[in-house]
Amino acid sequence: MSNQNFRSILTGSFSTPCADNPTVAMIEAAYHHAGIDARYINCDVSAAHLAAAVKGAVAMEWVGFNCSLPHKVAVIDHLDELAQAARIIGAVNCVTIRDGRLIGNNTDGKGFLASLRDVTDPAGKKVFLLGAGGAARAIAVELGLAGTAHITVANRDPEKAETIAALVRDNTGSAATGCPWVGKARIPEGTDIVINATSVGLGDGQAMPEVDLDTLAHGQIVADVIPNPPRTRFLREARARGCTPLDGLGMLVNQGVIGVELWLGKTLDAGVMQQTLRDIFGASDTD
Ligand code: NDP
Repeated sequence: MSNQNFRSILTGSFSTPCADNPTVAMIEAAYHHAGIDARYINCDVSAAHLAAAVKGAVAMEWVGFNCSLPHKVAVIDHLDELAQAARIIGAVNCVTIRDGRLIGNNTDGKGFLASLRDVTDPAGKKVFLLGAGGAARAIAVELGLAGTAHITVANRDPEKAETIAALVRDNTGSAATGCPWVGKARIPEGTDIVINATSVGLGDGQAMPEVDLDTLAHGQIVADVIPNPPRTRFLREARARGCTPLDGLGMLVNQGVIGVELWLGKTLDAGVMQQTLRDIFGASDTD
């Protein structure tokens, strides 16, 4: 009889398209580093096959999976339970499977918050949030649950900004206002944290959200959700004005850490994940 175990723990991701999603490299590097015999399988799953994929994960005794576009809302129909933030946000990107039961979480905002907590406690802070898409929604809800004093959501389409502000007001203790983003956004005096949660800057180191940079204040925290390139032009400009920059790479890494904690109850090495992504993106610490 052999004592060897040839059965790996199975985790992964369902999305389409999936070929450009580097999460598999990041998580498998950290599994390997920790000596955990687990796999993270990056699966291309169409909307028509989502139900079958979820059933397959249960049948093969996966311990959990991430869901990316276009499944973050649709997957909810296939779950047994939702964590608080996922319920408020109305989207799930991380599913845990326990005894055949599927529990939905949302790690987008939690990953951002874990990264933010490295530089400040959001409780009692005033936040200016640019953008009102899925990332902004998740971040706003988590900030509200973490006790921010006030969140201003600015978006070109003001209805989407007001929807998120109402979500925060109705479900958390934080105040929130939606406002239209016309021309160069001016950051109100007294703002502690400015966040670019738009897609501006993704894959383009020169693109920048339209912000009046003269309204940034020395000492303010300026965060960007863009993971690649991590040092966006917005962050470079903010740093040059004495602000503390926070990049989107940390948000992505922390989402990996949180997902694996939910699935395996183990905390992976964030440094290994960070370096793996930097190698893939060709980014250095000073980029
Ligand atoms: P959505 O498509 O849901 O939302 C995009 C948002 O960006 C909208 O509010 C849109 O405004 C705004 N926007 C787009 N172009 C412009 C522009 N030129 N000027 C002003 N606003 C603009 O995307 P997501 O919220 O899902 O993702 C946003 C970004 O967050 C992506 O780049 C993604 O890579 C990143 N992300 C990073 C994560 C990480 O872990 N680091 C995790 C998740 C997302 P409007 O409504 O007016 O069109």
